[in-house]
Amino acid sequence: SKNNHQTDVVIIGAGPTGLFAIFQCGMLGMKTHVIDALEATGGQCTALYPEKPIYDIPGFPTVAAAELIEHLEQQAAPFDPLYHLDQQVTGLQQESNGNWTVTTSKSTAISCKAVIIAAGAGAFGPNRPPLEGLENFEGSSVFYLVKRREAFRDKSVVIAGGGDSAVDWAMSLPEVAKKVYVVHRRDKFRAAPESVARMRSLAEMGKIEMVVPYQLHGLEGTDGKLEAVIVKDLKGNERSLEANILLPFYGLATDLGPMADWGFELERNHVVVNPTTCQTQKPGIFAIGDIATYENKLKLILCGFSEAAMAAHAIYPLVFPDHELHFQYSTSQGVPGE
Ligand code: FAD
Repeated sequence: SKNNHQTDVVIIGAGPTGLFAIFQCGMLGMKTHVIDALEATGGQCTALYPEKPIYDIPGFPTVAAAELIEHLEQQAAPFDPLYHLDQQVTGLQQESNGNWTVTTSKSTAISCKAVIIAAGAGAFGPNRPPLEGLENFEGSSVFYLVKRREAFRDKSVVIAGGGDSAVDWAMSLPEVAKKVYVVHRRDKFRAAPESVARMRSLAEMGKIEMVVPYQLHGLEGTDGKLEAVIVKDLKGNERSLEANILLPFYGLATDLGPMADWGFELERNHVVVNPTTCQTQKPGIFAIGDIATYENKLKLILCGFSEAAMAAHAIYPLVFPDHELHFQYSTSQGVPGE
């Protein structure tokens, strides 16, 4: 089926080290597929600090995190990696012939000769509010990010949270939505002061309704169609907000998920590897970047890059058992398309 794939190396995680591993594998003639829980590549650089400058990437006195990720993708592109984004790796099984099969939450199954785990602190996902029956509304009435503002035209929307995303959408959605509520547990917002001021002036004009200090308490509706969001204040006073859409913006969490049960030696949620190869205790399974640990490990992007190179060289004989690898520089070899 179209969900079944075969490749040389599966890379779990499209953060900076996963992206560089595509390049390193590619230079040794190995094909790669890359999986990430997020919809975009870049791991922490994209999800947590896209606009911050990084000062310790060799050769770049300063580079914005998002720009580094763009460069890494460009560098990897000649090797035609296949990206499987917006899905979490859920399974890892060894086949009878020694190959591995990696499976995801979207039923993607990829058979490969080796796996590189470049999973950082685990899969990124939204912090979900603890509401009964939440899963019945997710994807139909409850969304953790806004892809198209138009989808909320003429809807009544509850925005929950006090950070940048909540405040940004509180400023933008009144242009299309019928009604916008902002629910936050206190009257202080953790967003740029100018944005907060603009949000408050929209509230004064009656374009949004501030529901403060309140917390989400319950959801009402049937068949995934939200009808009301119940909120409560600290004294227990309840309000029912008539709404079709709930946007909880409570930030991102990381989840090691099923990886924690794959039988690796873990040290405080890090996978222990041989520092000269980055191989885990399971032959054919490698770990690099923030998730990998060994004595004196530094959690830095530049170390992740070096680990990607070591892992690729250690994987080569698994993919090409009959070839001997002669070490070469990128300058003597060139890259495809040059
Ligand atoms: P990550 O960037 O964490 O990426 C891992 C990816 O794997 C994530 O996208 C995640 O969704 C995905 N993933 C995990 N598990 C699964 C799964 N089961 N299924 C699917 N996908 C999965 N480092 C520096 O070197 N210099 C700096 O100046 C610097 N500044 C920083 C500033 C901040 C604010 C922060 C938070 C970090 C900073 N770092 C810096 C650290 C640096 O960002 C990390 O070392 C780096 O991102 C690690 O890269 P990685 O590819 O190993 O993992």
